[in-house]
Amino acid sequence: MPRPRCLWCMEPPYEDVAVLKWRGEERERLTVPLCRKHFARLKEAGPEGREQKGWRYKVGWW
Ligand SMILES: [Zn+2]
Repeated sequence: MPRPRCLWCMEPPYEDVAVLKWRGEERERLTVPLCRKHFARLKEAGPEGREQKGWRYKVGWW
């Protein structure tokens, strides 16, 4: 079985985080594993979120 890892890097997950992933009118509500670093960066990004491969992500489902 593959080792669990962060959505955006090879680090082990620190926490499963409820995130909103959006692009234009498209919305997805997901729970994703993030490492400590990426969780901190996403929190710092605030409501504007953080872009990753054409999608924006932010903490929380609304
Ligand atoms: Zn990471």
